[in-house]
Amino acid sequence: MGVIHLLPDAVANQIAAGEVIQRPASVVKELTENAIDAGANNIRVIIRDAGRTLVQVIDDGCGMNETDARLAFERHATSKISAATDLYALQTMGFRGEALASIAAVAQVEMTTRRADDELGIRLEIAASEVERQEPVVAPIGTQISVRNLFYNIPARRRFLKSDNAEMRHINAEFLRVALAHPNAAMSLTHNGIPLHMFTSGNMKQRVAAVAGKALAAQLLPIEIETNIVSIRGFIGTPTTAKKSGGDQYFFANDRYMRHPYLHKAVVDAYKNIIAPDLTPAYYLYLSVDPQSLDVNVHPQKTEIKFDDDSAIWQILNAAVRECLGKFNIMPSIDFDTADNIEIPPYMPQHQGEAVYNPFEREAANWRPPSGDFTPRPNAAGWENLYAPPATPRPADAQLAFASAMDTPTSDGSPLFHVGGRYIAVPMRSGLMLIDQRRAHERVQYDRLGAMIRSGRCASQQLLFPEIVAISADDACVVEEMSVELAEVGLEVEHNAEAGQLAIRAVPALINAADVHGLIETLVFDVRNGEADIQNGMQDYILRTLARQAAMPYGKALSTDEMIALYDALFASESPSLSPSGKQIFTIITTDEIEGRL
Ligand code: ADP
Ligand code: MG
Repeated sequence: MGVIHLLPDAVANQIAAGEVIQRPASVVKELTENAIDAGANNIRVIIRDAGRTLVQVIDDGCGMNETDARLAFERHATSKISAATDLYALQTMGFRGEALASIAAVAQVEMTTRRADDELGIRLEIAASEVERQEPVVAPIGTQISVRNLFYNIPARRRFLKSDNAEMRHINAEFLRVALAHPNAAMSLTHNGIPLHMFTSGNMKQRVAAVAGKALAAQLLPIEIETNIVSIRGFIGTPTTAKKSGGDQYFFANDRYMRHPYLHKAVVDAYKNIIAPDLTPAYYLYLSVDPQSLDVNVHPQKTEIKFDDDSAIWQILNAAVRECLGKFNIMPSIDFDTADNIEIPPYMPQHQGEAVYNPFEREAANWRPPSGDFTPRPNAAGWENLYAPPATPRPADAQLAFASAMDTPTSDGSPLFHVGGRYIAVPMRSGLMLIDQRRAHERVQYDRLGAMIRSGRCASQQLLFPEIVAISADDACVVEEMSVELAEVGLEVEHNAEAGQLAIRAVPALINAADVHGLIETLVFDVRNGEADIQNGMQDYILRTLARQAAMPYGKALSTDEMIALYDALFASESPSLSPSGKQIFTIITTDEIEGRL
């Protein structure tokens, strides 16, 4: 007998589940898309414990009869395609027939469903791919699926799940993607009894406005272009909406959310020279192409899509975004339908004219810069604080010991001078010390903030008027996740989901209220990109980021007194040689080295 045998269904399903169902958010995606495919007008998503204990989706779609209800949980059971050629004429979100089978392999599932024509519905209970119970029930039209205790039978997967906040962030993101792709359906999301989103049925504009929040929506510009290869509609953000964190970028192809790094570049490229290279503008773009010219089936989660003619679409998209930005100057506001009483103020540029704006060079001569507040934020925050009474220098690490062994310059008149707008040069008997002014200041600010927090001194200043920052629901989730650590460093924020705003009530000492915006963006960006881990060392990470934010920029001219104060403060630190982010702060060029050169 051979050694090869077919895997039992339950095992095969569990393996397939690994691809399709990675976390509670995948369940939300699959079930809401099934509801859409079933023609639902109303979809309710109910989550408990970030989806660990319950993901429930209730729809008023077509429902299933008894046979279909059972078949639905078989692998490759789908009502949506029957031949391979159907793959290229897809009208539905699902088609692989593996979502329900996968979910039922790794969770306890209960489904109640009824078609309009049937008097009674059917209720099924399934766990680990086994039907445990089946009975006729009185039920409303549509389908309700409860997925309990996800990965209850796969401890390794369960352990792999992140914090509740992180999982909720994924759920929120999937929910918003489906919501944006299908504005006709009313959709709500509830977590532990608290409603997070309630979208009424509407058109694309209204849904985008509801998802973006008032503040961001006020800064969106409409795009609409029709060609025989692709038609594109939707919205792009004004340059001021561009952020470091990568939220608020949405592409849809034939009403399906997609990730498309190549086309993303087409959009970003159009903003070249009007936003800083590390910023990404917000966009909500809906592409429609002939279904024949697109392959959805290249990825188990169907978020990657291949177009026949990527590069033509790139050109069209890029041109459309450029043109839209070009019109931007004369565009007073967008006229979002105000049917569901969303009141959107017209976009009001804060500054007019070119004078305030030109942080980046512009190449296209015919490119009119949009008006808006693009002035880089001056960041002298807390600089004054350097002039606290200077502490006594206290050598504390090897490099400093080395420096002081030679001779320590003092603040009593040794001529310090400034080199290249960036280094403080300190002549010493045995050479020349060069201090990176920004890194030095970062170290000083870090130590100061740390000391304040440890000593319980008030490390924050309350703002008389809260600073308002526009924020997407997505990014707000990240901020909420860090709220405890943020409060510890004195940053108090309050999220107003309806307005899409974050109200900053108190800011850490040493930081300007105006700089908090940038700080929050950086934090969100780093968390999203895995550079900061909310679970570990968040407090220190926030401190480091704060210190970086509060540190003076390069190019800041320093008076001799300022250089001396910074020098003294640096060498009062226990670690004067390394910045909080681990960069070397100073170097010494010895006279020997100088002699070697001359
Ligand atoms: P797919 O969506 O790829 O077809 P699924 O495993 O998600 O595969 O669903 C299997 C089948 O079950 C679907 O093709 C559909 O016929 C049926 N089904 C699933 N969810 C629903 C629902 N909410 N309402 C009606 N039918 C559904
Ligand atoms: Mg499906």
